[in-house]
Amino acid sequence: MIYTLPELQYGYDALEPYIDAVTMETHHSKHHAGYIAKFNAAISGTELESVQLEDLFAKISTLSPAVRNNGGGFYNHSLFWKLLTPRSNEEDITPKLAAAIEQGFGGLEQFKEEFSTAAVSLFGSGWTWLIKTDEGKLAITTTANQDNPLMDISSVKGKPILALDVWEHAYYLKYKNVRPDYIKAFWKIVNWNQVSEYFEE
Ligand code: MN
Repeated sequence: MIYTLPELQYGYDALEPYIDAVTMETHHSKHHAGYIAKFNAAISGTELESVQLEDLFAKISTLSPAVRNNGGGFYNHSLFWKLLTPRSNEEDITPKLAAAIEQGFGGLEQFKEEFSTAAVSLFGSGWTWLIKTDEGKLAITTTANQDNPLMDISSVKGKPILALDVWEHAYYLKYKNVRPDYIKAFWKIVNWNQVSEYFEE
């Protein structure tokens, strides 16, 4: 299996002014493409070529750093692009997801605050996640580098339904060192349709 760069469902400039076109183009065509090339190189000719991504993540502690970092980079970004949209609408949150958010966090605003705090507080490069646990509950967690909550090394595990890339390459051109402003902007472009779909499937 050879992994390929997924096309975005919107233009590089579609998320302006929240994420600028140059950042989107570099992030997708250079960073994401780079992870994919290195991931393919790391698995090509090995038995890992025929292993499903989720199964690979489930035993990532036994695999090389190249597979962990670049496999994570491939999956995390592929998910992230789908979770963004220029037509963000909180009314797209389905009743089931709304109920889970209410139960888990006390409401949407409280959830956004808690998720934002986790994203601001994450030291160094990594990701902030909203996951659905095996019990069907919601939880917020963070991972370093290109790790994710599907990996066996993750302290909190579950299926990611919302993701935020807080590597500096995701925001530095526009927001410089002010990560909190990037996180505020993120809420204007969340694809709640997709979050709901991931939660309910
Ligand atoms: Mn990134």
